[in-house]
Amino acid sequence: MKIICVGRNYAQHAAEMGATVPSEPVLFIKPDSALLRENKPFYIPEWTQAVHYECEVFYRIGKKGKYISARHALPYIDGVGLGIDFTARDVQETCKQQGLPWEKAKAFHDSAAVSEVLPLEAFPDPYRLDFELRVNGETRQKAHTDEMLFTLPQIMEHASRYFLVKIGDFVFTGTPAGVGPVQIGDHLEGFLNGRKLLDFYIK
Ligand code: MG
Repeated sequence: MKIICVGRNYAQHAAEMGATVPSEPVLFIKPDSALLRENKPFYIPEWTQAVHYECEVFYRIGKKGKYISARHALPYIDGVGLGIDFTARDVQETCKQQGLPWEKAKAFHDSAAVSEVLPLEAFPDPYRLDFELRVNGETRQKAHTDEMLFTLPQIMEHASRYFLVKIGDFVFTGTPAGVGPVQIGDHLEGFLNGRKLLDFYIK
C-alpha cells in the first residue's frame, strides 16, 4: 500500500509556511514503510534537528481505480482515521532551497503515524469532521475538514490521474495551521470529532 498525501490544503497553514495557496492539489507519496501504527512511540531520527507534527484526517481506499472523476470518487472510500504527517522540516527546507525533491524529509520510516481505521458509519457525516491535536495537553491544531482548499473528491480526481489507487491505500488530506517541532518526551493526543484516536509519545 501507499499513502497519498496533500500538501498546503489549508490556507492558514500555507501562509504559516510562507507558501502560496496552490491552484491544484500538491501531492506526494509515502511508502508503506512510513506507517507507524497502534500508538507506538515515534523516535526522532538522528539526522534531523526539526521534526514537525502535522495532524491530518485520512481516508482509506476500498476500491481500485484511476482517472476517477470527483463526482464518482466517494464510493472509492471505505474508512477514515486520524494521522500525523511527520516532517523533517530542516531537511525539507534544504531540499527546497536546492530545488531537489523533499522525499527524505517526508517519506522516511515511521513518518506516517495512523490511528485505527474507523468505518464511515462511525460518524454522522464522515466527510465533515473536526479534529484536534494536543501536545502535552495543550491544543496546537484544531480545524474542520470544511476548511480544506481541495475537497476529498477533488483530491481523488487529481491524484488518480497520476497514481492508481488501490485497496488499502490511505489519503492524507493535509494539515491546518499550528504545526511545530516535537521534542523527546512529548505526548501527542489526536481527536476526531471529539473521539481520541491518537495517544502516543515522542522518544
Ligand atoms: Mg502534511
